[in-house]
Amino acid sequence: MIIEKYDVIIVGAGAAGMMSAIEAGKRGRKVLLVDHSKKIGEKIRISGGGRCNFTNIHTEANKFISQNPKFVISALNQYTQNDFINLIKKHNIKFHEKKLGQLFCDESAQQIVDLLLLECENANVVLKKEIMITDIDKKEEQYFITTNSNQYYSDSLIIATGGLSIPKIGASNFGYEVAKKFNLDIIETLPALVPLTFSEKILGICKELTGLSVEAVVSFKKTFFEEGMLFTHRGLSGPSILQISSYWKLGDNININLTPKFNIFKSLEEKKKLNPKQDICLIISEILPKRLAQIICKENEVSGNIRELSSKKLKQLSDSINTWVINPTGSEGYRTAEVTLGGVNTNELSSKTMMVKKHPGLFFIGEVVDVTGHLGGYNFQWAWSSGFVAGQYA
Ligand SMILES: Cc1cc2nc3c(=O)[nH]c(=O)nc-3n(C[C@H](O)[C@H](O)[C@H](O)COP(=O)(O)OP(=O)(O)OC[C@H]3O[C@@H](n4cnc5c(N)ncnc54)[C@H](O)[C@@H]3O)c2cc1C
Repeated sequence: MIIEKYDVIIVGAGAAGMMSAIEAGKRGRKVLLVDHSKKIGEKIRISGGGRCNFTNIHTEANKFISQNPKFVISALNQYTQNDFINLIKKHNIKFHEKKLGQLFCDESAQQIVDLLLLECENANVVLKKEIMITDIDKKEEQYFITTNSNQYYSDSLIIATGGLSIPKIGASNFGYEVAKKFNLDIIETLPALVPLTFSEKILGICKELTGLSVEAVVSFKKTFFEEGMLFTHRGLSGPSILQISSYWKLGDNININLTPKFNIFKSLEEKKKLNPKQDICLIISEILPKRLAQIICKENEVSGNIRELSSKKLKQLSDSINTWVINPTGSEGYRTAEVTLGGVNTNELSSKTMMVKKHPGLFFIGEVVDVTGHLGGYNFQWAWSSGFVAGQYA
């Protein structure tokens, strides 16, 4: 077995791992970047519908979920969204703002993968693919990794193996296992930014409305998001549902307002006075997509002239539109989740360097850490910022 020495070894050649490799390499460190996958940067390639929502111009600490909400501040300040935008510009990659500050490539997410690979090459990073790590150890302040073929050791070891989402393209629990081996606390992991599932009755409605999208406010306790909501044959999805899934707790309800712009009850009471012969289902179809309006009228057992409906009935109908309370039975899980909530407890790490406080030379970055961004480019920004920081100190 060959034994090779590096200054820095990075496990996981995703967004965070590649960024840290580039930065450590630029400092003249001898860097080895290993990944167990055959194809590098797969998550980047499939992200943002193939266009990669690589950052958000509104990035700030309140767009991240963590047991310690202030932890992200230092890394986000050391490497901002503008720093990444400048890197994109340096490589002449054309991009646009889709909405809400979300920046996407005009052409293809592959351009981001190519950019990172080129920067790695320019920084003399040694990249090894399809590497199976069988053991990690620390001896006399050096970190050893044993693979199916070789052994490598280094002064610094960066764990950038990401979360548990989408095992099909390389996600594994490796990072959490390393954290456990070094006696680090882990915040419970859960799928996040994930479609929600429902019991038979609501699922039946979702199936009937499959493909329909509406702008809705979806809330859980005091947290709410106003974005698109999509009915699918498996339940509810779309940005507002994905966002709330990161906050929702099993057993609790979520609240949906299908017409956030106005109060239906007030409008129906007025219509009853002004135009009592108008058909209630027709009125609702003028406010909501026809298919949805029909289901709502059926579920509330209303039909005919609006004058036939009592105020109590109109209130019930309005509530089912303005405050539709439903109880998800679960989520689609890691199979479709964009990210993983929880991870290595940030109390174990220095927010300035991303180094483990009790193990100098050991770093955790990216999604494996208990930092989860909202939908909209924040998760990649966290990968770039935390990767950059570790690359300065490893
Ligand atoms: C479908 C989808 C779309 C997304 N779209 C966006 C988006 O548009 N914008 C956004 O901000 N975020 C998006 N995300 C989230 C974003 O992709 C992640 O938050 C980000 O990739 C995390 O970066 P990371 O480097 O920490 O982990 P990853 O990018 O997941 O990289 C981890 C790497 O570690 C490797 N690895 C894992 N286990 C081992 C092991 N045992 N040995 C060696 N290597 C290992 C993996 O192969 C992988 O290359 C999306 C996620 C998904 C699933």
